[in-house]
Amino acid sequence: MKKLIYMDHAATTPLKKEVLDEMLPYMKDKFGNPSSIYSLGGQSKNAVEIAREKVANAINAKPREIFFTGGGSEADNWAIKGVAYANRNRGNHIITSKIEHHAVLHTCEYLEKQGFDVTYLDVDEYGLIDLEQLERSITDKTILISIMFANNEIGTIQPIKEIGRIAKEKGVYFHTDAVQAIGHIKIDVDELNIDLLTMAAHKFYGPKGIGALYIRQGVKIDPLISGGGQERNRRAGTENVPGIVGMGKAIELAYENFEEKNRRLTYLRNRLIEKIFEKIDYVRLNGHPTQRLPGNVNVCFEFIEGESLLLSLDMAGIAGSSGSACTSGSLEPSHVLLAIGLPHEIAHGSLRLTLGDSNTEEEIDYVVEKLVGIVARLREMSPLYEKVKEVK
Ligand SMILES: *Cc1c(COP(=O)(O)O)cnc(C)c1O
Repeated sequence: MKKLIYMDHAATTPLKKEVLDEMLPYMKDKFGNPSSIYSLGGQSKNAVEIAREKVANAINAKPREIFFTGGGSEADNWAIKGVAYANRNRGNHIITSKIEHHAVLHTCEYLEKQGFDVTYLDVDEYGLIDLEQLERSITDKTILISIMFANNEIGTIQPIKEIGRIAKEKGVYFHTDAVQAIGHIKIDVDELNIDLLTMAAHKFYGPKGIGALYIRQGVKIDPLISGGGQERNRRAGTENVPGIVGMGKAIELAYENFEEKNRRLTYLRNRLIEKIFEKIDYVRLNGHPTQRLPGNVNVCFEFIEGESLLLSLDMAGIAGSSGSACTSGSLEPSHVLLAIGLPHEIAHGSLRLTLGDSNTEEEIDYVVEKLVGIVARLREMSPLYEKVKEVK
């Protein structure tokens, strides 16, 4: 079988060999519980603390402000529910956006049932929030603003520094889901005035099922998981030592040669977009033309179904996505594409290709060549396209 062309790095990334190598001893001989007092336990404890330092360094935080979780979804749930419950006496209003990941949106919807008020900010055609609408939405009941750093579907990067400044001025906590941004954007939580930040290792070539929440010292937050005293009494449960070690290594590698990697990804991304536009008609780019993640391409092909497109690509050995991993498989078009104003029928024809370390120029060209054939074949079957062709 020929090699798979993997272009779904926003869904997950392959584990780097160097990361696996650092994890393996903690799945074998170094299996001690970090809470145990004998040296086998101490070894695990040390490894966890070294990883914590690496994660903290990557975002200019203090190690004591990093709390390991079971992934990005848990960190999002914790940030929002934890702040909501701990600050109920100050207010019950939360501000987020319409294009957040479901880990944020569904958490907010859950809190609405518990008596919290949530404002879901609109976004413009590029997926950017309106800073004035944000400022106008803040009331004396507002306790939290949760806006993602970069969108997982369309790659749009939000004006995080301005949001942080507004939050600080108004005395409101600011949480950002930075799962897609880590490794692609230099993040300094002090410079950006971020109070809480979510990350997930499997989006930057680390293992799945491990993430972290950065919590600025002094932020009032309840635990999400109760039990033992791990993570300074804030997140109970025996630490996922191999996962944590892997996350530490992965984040260190993510910021090595970071400018060069981004330049390469941006070049490949632009080449892919340009070639698609050159060779296929009735196509539109979703997301911001420049203020977007280096590896993100999201386009809509009119007159075709995203699902059929993905299946045909799969048969050609190409892994892509129609939106987020969570919504593909459902018939509803993506909430993100609807929020940027696409009509249902066009949102259905979306394709997300997210590039990563392994992708090459040859792969880009091969994928475009395949796309040209697949899109033409699928459009042959579309009565709407036949009509448009006649008019032309
Ligand atoms: C993948 C992702 C998540 C969820 O992370 P998990 O580790 O899969 O729970 C949350 N937010 C964004 C933006 C993501 O891309």
